[in-house]
Amino acid sequence: MQESPPSARQPGRVPELSVVVPMFNEQTNVAPFVEAVTGVLAGAGVEHEILLVDDGSRDGTWLAISELARKEPRLRGISLSRNFGHQGALLAGLNHARGRAVITMDGDLQHPPDTLPELLDAWRSGYKVVNTRRLDSADTSSFKRLSSRAFYWLFSRLTGVAMEAGASDFRLMDRDAVEALVRLGDADPFIRGLVSWLGFSTKTIPYQARRRHSGVPKFTLRKMVRLSSGAMLSFSAFPLRLGIGIGFVTSALAGMELCYIFYTYLNGHVVPGWASVMTVMSLMFGVLFVLLGIIGTYLAKVYEILKKRPRFVVGDRTGFAEDPSGLPSYDR
Ligand code: UDP
Ligand code: MG
Repeated sequence: MQESPPSARQPGRVPELSVVVPMFNEQTNVAPFVEAVTGVLAGAGVEHEILLVDDGSRDGTWLAISELARKEPRLRGISLSRNFGHQGALLAGLNHARGRAVITMDGDLQHPPDTLPELLDAWRSGYKVVNTRRLDSADTSSFKRLSSRAFYWLFSRLTGVAMEAGASDFRLMDRDAVEALVRLGDADPFIRGLVSWLGFSTKTIPYQARRRHSGVPKFTLRKMVRLSSGAMLSFSAFPLRLGIGIGFVTSALAGMELCYIFYTYLNGHVVPGWASVMTVMSLMFGVLFVLLGIIGTYLAKVYEILKKRPRFVVGDRTGFAEDPSGLPSYDR
């Protein structure tokens, strides 16, 4: 992990705001996104830079970014060596952002740029973190709505880290919060959980999600399950303790059963039941293997941490006028 703060690593004028955006196969969204955000911020007189992070796209996203960066001095781009996922791309961007405040948002215009001045106002009034909450629109699928609600409910109950349904990575962070976040070094970062865990003064602003400008969603069900299960594992040890509870309950039941068998025997009978014995055995073996799997998953996580692999690797940069040797090509 880097030693000095980004402003020291990256000399030159420090803009008031950096907008950090992960882009994965979004070639048709690059220009409309930059135009919309620049329009809003220039209109509000905010001195800013836009930092687009190409997360190993396989289409023309990087070409679109580098071409636009030649014309637009406020645009900078980094290209990761492969697809590191949304969270890795965000971390890479946060590591390269120079602004005194940093806004992270999606590159498909679902997070409305018109909300940016509102986030800035909240920051200027003293909040170090300004979160957003997605108001469910007709466009949000009922699956996304329900799964999001269920996940945040369970996450908050299990981890004690408060989080509301509709939370996403559309937020503003003060430089202090950015510095703290990039130094945490979580092996499998779940940024919205970590920001909440950091605990800076926070305000939440609701917004109405828009339709995707173009292209298809990149967050597949598989990526969603990976993100949410990874989040649970890195914030809660509760699943590991599950075995203790189950052990106590089944021991109590077994004790009661033993008393019953003994009592029947004393009265001259034998308890019949091959089927019941088999059922209980199968059930207990099932539970045992699930718990073994949970322990294995945590062990795998420890192994990941021990390997200390970086969470992103930068392959290329554009729009960085200063000497890039001081910039992080990877973290850790
Ligand atoms: N994204 C990324 N890497 C990935 C998946 C997504 O950088 O592996 C970016 C994507 O380009 C977009 C943002 O993350 O800017 C949110 O993705 P998407 O719109 O697919 O998610 P959804 O809106 O369905 O949550
Ligand atoms: Mg989207």
